Amino acid sequence: MKLAGKTILITGASDGIGRAAAISYAQEGANVILHGRNEEKLQQVVEQIQSFTAKKPPIIIFDLLQDVDYQAFCRQVSQYCTHLDGILHNAGILGQRVALTDYEAKIWQDVLRIHVDAPLFLTQSLMPLLSQSSDASVLFTSSGVGRGVRATWGAYSIAKIAIEQISLLLTMENTQANIRYNCINPGATRTTMRAAAFPDEDPLTLPTAYDIMPMYVYMMSDESRHLHGKSVDAQGK
Ligand code: NDP
Repeated sequence: MKLAGKTILITGASDGIGRAAAISYAQEGANVILHGRNEEKLQQVVEQIQSFTAKKPPIIIFDLLQDVDYQAFCRQVSQYCTHLDGILHNAGILGQRVALTDYEAKIWQDVLRIHVDAPLFLTQSLMPLLSQSSDASVLFTSSGVGRGVRATWGAYSIAKIAIEQISLLLTMENTQANIRYNCINPGATRTTMRAAAFPDEDPLTLPTAYDIMPMYVYMMSDESRHLHGKSVDAQGK
């Protein structure tokens, strides 16, 4: 029970890595708050969590490409908790795999909005809840292409580099000493997004989202309390 008593919000908890994180955090004793845009899919995650715990996780429906009222998001979260010990900023979309010269403006804006604007402004709006924790872990999701640009990854690569820098900046500014900011790179993981990025790859050659959960749990636990402004790999190196 590495996360016993902690209250943790997971964005994009309806599928892939976010879903595995929500379930793993709940298995480790956390009170999880599930965010997504698809109520039916989130209810399935709720049922899965209720199969091993009496707690019923609340869900927050908020489309990160349609809704802009981040304060309203915070008000919803506040209905379920008085403090937040962790946020896993995980929701994302791939965008296009084309050269920058061919990249569509609307898709560019959407990718930056979900991977950069949303995690930053959600964090801002949730500061009152984070500040009430004795040790809050804000974990941003990066990528291999967040460590350096890679051809044809376009807005996704730029967005992941930006979120790594945002995490560092928040760490440097350190406006609330009880809040730590870090990034996690899941590495190649068997999900819908990975299959879209690499349609010719055999998914069975990749680890599942559950396989990479030890680092996701560690980064939310007290064991990683000393880590500030780091970018870690879920699959090690
Ligand atoms: P998935 O596509 O499997 O899951 C993405 C999640 O984000 C889903 O819950 C999805 O909801 C949610 N989401 C998408 N768009 C929106 C939106 N507009 N509003 C709210 N929620 C939304 O992706 P992964 O699990 O693979 O990716 C999770 C994170 O890990 C992402 O940040 C990704 O960039 C990163 N990553 C993944 C890698 C991999 O190999 N899989 C490698 C490196 C980084 P819905 O179920 O409704 O679609």
